[in-house]
Amino acid sequence: MIVVMRKGASQEAIQGVVARIKELGFRAHLSTGEEQTIIGVIGDERPVQESVFRIMEGVEKVVRILKPYKLASRDFHPSDTIVPINGFSIGDKRIVIMAGPCSVESREQLMETAWAVKEAGAHILRAGAFKPRTSPYSFQGLGYKALELLAEARAETGMAVVTEIMAPEQVPAMIDCIDILQVGTRNMQNFSLLHAVGESGKPVLLKRGMMSTMEELLIAAEYILSHGNDRLMLCERGIRTFETYTRNTLDISAVPALKQLTHLPVLVDPSHATGNWELVTPLALAAVAAGADGLLVEVHPHPEKALSDGAQSLRPERFADMVTRARVVAQAVGRDL
Ligand code: PEP
Ligand code: MN
Repeated sequence: MIVVMRKGASQEAIQGVVARIKELGFRAHLSTGEEQTIIGVIGDERPVQESVFRIMEGVEKVVRILKPYKLASRDFHPSDTIVPINGFSIGDKRIVIMAGPCSVESREQLMETAWAVKEAGAHILRAGAFKPRTSPYSFQGLGYKALELLAEARAETGMAVVTEIMAPEQVPAMIDCIDILQVGTRNMQNFSLLHAVGESGKPVLLKRGMMSTMEELLIAAEYILSHGNDRLMLCERGIRTFETYTRNTLDISAVPALKQLTHLPVLVDPSHATGNWELVTPLALAAVAAGADGLLVEVHPHPEKALSDGAQSLRPERFADMVTRARVVAQAVGRDL
């Protein structure tokens, strides 16, 4: 952290800042220019708020040097984190595809979709049990009953399962039957949930808040990492912009940018990003080209009958086509699928 003093700040003001720096357990480094004095705060500044110095007499501004997250940063952990799940290594050379319906609707619908996505090349089954719907009148998911059905689907197909967790008290019911706990866009900054999934020790898929910056996503990741859980994956799922044609705007630049900033695997959800099945395959291909480690895709055997997100769900045969085309792009960028 650097404290820039105002032009002509008094010696008294400068010494006041130096004293405060020392009082907080840091060392101070003074750089006296012709017009202004700059004071470096030496030490791990992360726990200190800028305002501690900014409100002091003679201070013009305070500039942070260290990123506000540490465990999530590539500076701290240069090599890629690889999350092993059911024989697949997420974050490694092979791109991993998680696919399935938005919601578990019935045993028949779940099993039909699970077998279809497996046959088409998906590695992991996705399906929501607890649904965070914008309206309280929309289908809210089958809840605990859906967890039982997901356990059945896992046992029958041998696929690992990812589902969204909405509250800390759902951890015990998911611990044995779910392989990856998904934290959805609306809960990215639900700190008690981040705490709970961090302590659960289960692999976590953390989706970017629809109105959150990449830095806020990485600080949310830091909560999970700092609770001792490093089996963590991030997911770009589109953010809100002024564009209304698509449900959200897929921030494709977030993929290579996050790969620079963090060692954590980065997945992309082209379904919630667009809200329109016709745009899902092109964006899935773009995500693979941009360096995504995996995809999260909604598939429904009868989208017209889906209880949630039918408009963005691919029919199984279209999903199979998406996988075939994504494989070609993966090979072109030196990845496997
Ligand atoms: C989902 O993947 O089921 C979901 C609800 O996604 P998001 O949190 O990104 O809206
Ligand atoms: Mn959905």
